Amino acid sequence: MKCPYCATESSKVLESRDARAGEAVRRRRECDACQRRFTTFEEVERQRLYLVKRDGTREEFSREKLLAGMVLACRKRPVSHGCLVEHAQRIERDLHDRGEAEVASSEVGKRVMQCLLALDGVAYVRFASVYEQFESPEEFAQRVRELGSLMVM
Ligand SMILES: [Zn+2]
Repeated sequence: MKCPYCATESSKVLESRDARAGEAVRRRRECDACQRRFTTFEEVERQRLYLVKRDGTREEFSREKLLAGMVLACRKRPVSHGCLVEHAQRIERDLHDRGEAEVASSEVGKRVMQCLLALDGVAYVRFASVYEQFESPEEFAQRVRELGSLMVM
């Protein structure tokens, strides 16, 4: 952090204090060269993630919505809520780890389907039927048949 007076890059911290209820730190520093004092403010950079939907519109990614979709798919299935929360968190983390500000909703859907496929076949077909907007009972039946062969593997 450069000194605002002489641009020297080294300074010592005289005092650190929590700010914004612990979400940031304010530091009082003294420049090693000119000994003048200045304050820095440090906070975690929270990267926003935007979901790009099929119709091209964007909305901020919401873990709550992601989880709600998974909970609905797993209704009355032997999958615990805690397990779904963990999976939703992991999906969110993986999406953030891509380091990109946008993600296609189809990509998110794919990850949720992969996750549900491993957890519960019924939940998977439910989610897929809504997500992929099956237009006919045949499509739905086809997916169930595919699932059947996946489960055998
Ligand atoms: Zn200085």
